[in-house]
Amino acid sequence: MQRRIVLIAVFAAVLAMLASTSFVRGQTAATAAPQTPTGAVATTSTSEHFDPAAATNAYLAKVPPDKRAKSDAYFEGGYWLILWDFLAFSIVFLLLLVTGLSARMRDLAERITRFKPIQTFLYWVQFLVLTWLLTFPLTVYEGFIREHKYGLATQTFGPWMGDQLKGLGLFVVFGGLLLMALYGIVRRLPRTWWIWGALTSLVFLTFLFLIAPVFIAPLFNKYTRLEDPAIRDPILSMARANGISAKDVFVQDASRQTTRVSAFVTGFLNTERIVLNDNLLKRCSVAEIEAVMGHEMGHYVMHHAYKGLMFFGIVIVLGFAFLRKSSEWALGRWGDKWRAHAAVDLAALPLFALLISSYFFVLTPILNTYSRMEEYEADIFGLNAARQPDAEAEVDLKLADYRKLDPGPIEEFFFYDHPSGRTRIYAAMRWKAEHLHELGNREQGTGNREIGNRGKW
Ligand SMILES: [Zn+2]
Repeated sequence: MQRRIVLIAVFAAVLAMLASTSFVRGQTAATAAPQTPTGAVATTSTSEHFDPAAATNAYLAKVPPDKRAKSDAYFEGGYWLILWDFLAFSIVFLLLLVTGLSARMRDLAERITRFKPIQTFLYWVQFLVLTWLLTFPLTVYEGFIREHKYGLATQTFGPWMGDQLKGLGLFVVFGGLLLMALYGIVRRLPRTWWIWGALTSLVFLTFLFLIAPVFIAPLFNKYTRLEDPAIRDPILSMARANGISAKDVFVQDASRQTTRVSAFVTGFLNTERIVLNDNLLKRCSVAEIEAVMGHEMGHYVMHHAYKGLMFFGIVIVLGFAFLRKSSEWALGRWGDKWRAHAAVDLAALPLFALLISSYFFVLTPILNTYSRMEEYEADIFGLNAARQPDAEAEVDLKLADYRKLDPGPIEEFFFYDHPSGRTRIYAAMRWKAEHLHELGNREQGTGNREIGNRGKW
């Protein structure tokens, strides 16, 4: 019976992969260089012989070689960080098991209280704090030193550390709640815990996803209403045209942490919210902001959040099935040595952490591909909604500060959770090639007879 459920889940996963497209995170991030006038390259825009490939190359050539080398180095370094992170955490988890420290942490939790859920929480706090401390040097390098080295970070160490501690606190609370629920399930349903555990995790993630914009994001940034009608009104107009019932546009003070440009559309039912970050506002033209917002609205209109949750649901169910099989095998083999004898034993938690991080490490290219496909969809939607192909290309170039512009196809498949700059600019130029007549008319100010518009299409 369980085997059948796994087979059905695998089949559903394959179908979902074939049928659908990219991932929850609706963030178009770009680090901005000083603003460049839109359309500088596109001198051939009204020509009959507009070549999208040549126009793409012309845009790419605008980035000076030294800047290109820097962003390539930053992004390629990120490939290695995926590996170093995985290895560092794996070593910590193994150390906790092999040294018997995990068993001692369980014993301590059991001495303090007889109440099982509190034991789970006490073990979790010890486990999390120890793991956090042991991997802290890597976190500092990755999140602070390296970001400053490439000019992407704006925080001094104090505020950065403050954000890290807030993150740790949230992880203690929410991770603790989830684990208390999961261990309750493992204790009561020793044979089928994996399927109920997967469902519980998914419900929990959905809940987090719902409350994050309202209760978690404001802990790290301030959100204010955008008052400038010159920027706000075209965005709200585009939102209305695409069936998004937002009344306000919000600005996030992301420059507190980073120089990256980003924007997103979030919310359910009546809580829809369009959010721009202040870097985007400061460093992009109105046309560029419209191009970005068209993309973000694409995520919204195409229900990427819901599709992403469904995709992730399949990943989680398969992950729990894998956890069950592999943990039984490992505990049968080494459980006595580790003094951790079954899934229900808290001392086995580092094993579960090791197995789940291995699972996600192996899945990296699949998760990236799912995300990249959805981002590409949002790009196409954004081109049709904002009708700003040159502004789109300019924004794509601004990504070049931290994302390699022109990777090989295998590299893009494995490591890119958004399409590369070349892919995105080419899509914009291909769109432009098929709309030259309209764009030409717009440039001459004759092509737009709709009433009351603001130069938008
Ligand atoms: Zn996106």
